Amino acid sequence: MARIVQKFGGTSVATIERIKAAALKVKRERERGHQLTVAVSAMSGATDKLVELTRQASPLHDARESDVVIASGEQVTVGLMALCLQELGIPSRSFCGWQVPIRTNAAHGQARIEELVPDELERMLARGEVPVVAGFQGVTADGRITTLGRGGSDTTAVALAAALKAERCDIYTDVDGVYTSDPRIVTRARKLTRITFEEMLEMASLGAKVLQTRSVELAMNHRVRVQVLSSFAEQIGSDYPGTLLVDEDEIVEKHVVSGVTYSRDEAKITLVKVSDRPGVAAAIFGPLANANVNVDMIVQNVSEDGRATDLTFTVSRSDLDRAVALLNPLVKELGINRIRHDSNVVKVSVIGVGMRSHAGVAQRMFKALGDKGINIEVISTSEIKISILIAEEFTELALRTLHTAYGLDAN
Ligand code: ADP
Ligand code: ASP
Ligand code: MG
Repeated sequence: MARIVQKFGGTSVATIERIKAAALKVKRERERGHQLTVAVSAMSGATDKLVELTRQASPLHDARESDVVIASGEQVTVGLMALCLQELGIPSRSFCGWQVPIRTNAAHGQARIEELVPDELERMLARGEVPVVAGFQGVTADGRITTLGRGGSDTTAVALAAALKAERCDIYTDVDGVYTSDPRIVTRARKLTRITFEEMLEMASLGAKVLQTRSVELAMNHRVRVQVLSSFAEQIGSDYPGTLLVDEDEIVEKHVVSGVTYSRDEAKITLVKVSDRPGVAAAIFGPLANANVNVDMIVQNVSEDGRATDLTFTVSRSDLDRAVALLNPLVKELGINRIRHDSNVVKVSVIGVGMRSHAGVAQRMFKALGDKGINIEVISTSEIKISILIAEEFTELALRTLHTAYGLDAN
């Protein structure tokens, strides 16, 4: 008998039919003698609609009230899932985040789980019942509802698996595993049977939304065995049809590059002719950091005359207006000639632990893109990834080109 957490994403609970199909997967695992805990997202599209309502109510909304609204999608699906399980003869009870409780910090909209108290869930499991827990939501020390950031139900599921010491956490979604690239764009993407935690962490943070980044981090730290699989397929998690997150030494076949990702949530800012003297970078990035504007890629050119240079960096698209507003007051003080910005850009990245031991990986990327006439605007690298910024219209072409260049195409 194993203890398993099953998470069903938005498309997997999009209709009553889909919820019934998910409930059947719970039933089948249970019939194999396993103890099940279920986590669910809101119905596909529901959270987007709720976010839009909060925007209409108040453009600069109070994040605490906006969380009350956008967390509500999951309250609907936990109840419906518990009802569908009961219809199948399975004793079940729903839990909102505050009822578990899943305690978080007070960073509304982006809260982090601090503690998950599993006592009531444990009592239910001991009685052979199935708890159904709302993904994406938690509660602060002072009793306010929080949300964990978009895609946060994955993190709820992994946190449940860690707290309950589950053998496995099965993430049911609308694709049958983690692919070498987004299968909706790169039709020749291949399903990976295994991927290292480290690579998955990079892929998630560089745009592959199949798992929320924080969920991978949590799985890595708590040694949770995570599997990504499709709720549309016949098989259930115990048959191992999906992609398993594993340690590097569990991978037999090693590729230099395991995945290619993209992120459209990027905007580029160029400060034309900034004074080239000590303290300038701190004067520019300090106010951005203080306002929680995350700066990602940065390039600074060598100044020709030793007095002024251009500085280019990227921020999240949703932070662009705020960033420019924070930089405008600095124009005079830092001798900036002009602030240029462009949100028509996309970040494309190649990821692979094999990069550590192979030379020429970046060169292959630059050559392949150059041959297709794609101009690279900014480059950044780390030990196991290379990211570039290009014009958005080249996204699909760049992904497919790199996928082929690194030998990832399915036959
Ligand atoms: P859920 O609602 O189940 O959480 P998401 O939409 O959040 O589902 O995540 C699944 C989607 O992630 C897929 O439909 C797919 O388009 C996208 N995706 C992006 N990159 C990848 C990848 N490398 N492998 C698999 N899916 C990916
Ligand atoms: N419903 C939330 C969202 O759409 C959480 C999730 O789906 O994981 O982001
Ligand atoms: Mg998701």
